[in-house]
Amino acid sequence: MKKYAIGADIGGTTVKLGLFTTDGALLEKWEIRTNTENGGEKILPDIAASCRAILADRKIILNEVEGIGFGVPGPVGADGIIDVCVNLGWENVDLKEEVNKLLGLKAAVGNDANVAAVGECWKGGGKDADNLVMITLGTGVGCGIILDGRMVTGAHGYGGEAGHIQINPEEEETCNCGKNGCLEQYCSANGIVRVTKQKLESVSTDTMLRDYSDLTCENIFYAAKKGDAFALRQVDEFARTLALGLSYISCVIDPEIFLIGGGVSKAGTIVTDTVEKHYQNFVFGAQKNTRFGLAQLGNDAGIYGAAKLVIE
Ligand SMILES: [Zn+2]
Repeated sequence: MKKYAIGADIGGTTVKLGLFTTDGALLEKWEIRTNTENGGEKILPDIAASCRAILADRKIILNEVEGIGFGVPGPVGADGIIDVCVNLGWENVDLKEEVNKLLGLKAAVGNDANVAAVGECWKGGGKDADNLVMITLGTGVGCGIILDGRMVTGAHGYGGEAGHIQINPEEEETCNCGKNGCLEQYCSANGIVRVTKQKLESVSTDTMLRDYSDLTCENIFYAAKKGDAFALRQVDEFARTLALGLSYISCVIDPEIFLIGGGVSKAGTIVTDTVEKHYQNFVFGAQKNTRFGLAQLGNDAGIYGAAKLVIE
């Protein structure tokens, strides 16, 4: 095993990068802009150039680097080829081959949600777990699954698309994926706000949430923590829906721990505690022993996981 590894978390606007030792110490992290022009053709050359510059600064030669791992915002096939990545403008990109040409380094790639789960499993909230599910509650609902220490990607790169578990086929609004009633429509930050706004319109209950002109998910959790009964009920309803979805996952893969990350998790243990309370009612037997925790690496989970992909 060589001394260093690099992790790159490629997002639609920025690429987050981290230089690690192969035993997992983060030595330096930095960001560059994601240039999505011309089918994102500059993204990998830009990453390669910035890695060369950082390594040169530290007098590290490429030969001392084990490889570079990537997280990308879209499905990745088992062969590492990215058919389509809308956010990056990529079509049919053979990332491993390109990186090898640019840097002469071994490369590995995974979907960003899966890669974040690898990071949390390595150095974050799931450090002692070999079987873990990480749920990221942000604009959407992301999910990464680690089974027996390995990332689950599935036959088509859709392993861990838990945000699109159809929880309510009777839903009238359509999800981004084209189906109706996905978990994401209720449990993402946007989903929580959507459901709460609908409720505010349909009832006349007195609540401090009516004071906000542009209601956010943060406002809802803030009000709940202040004891606002209406907000507490909304948090409870969100948690019940998420717990129901997680109980399905539990029946299939029985994880040791569910880690909850993303913007919504910034509300803290009110999220994990409330979800766990409902989860207990939806499962049986030893499934009740599954733990709940908050993700710990925040925005760095992606670079940790990406680096870990090349350290095996
Ligand atoms: Zn969906």
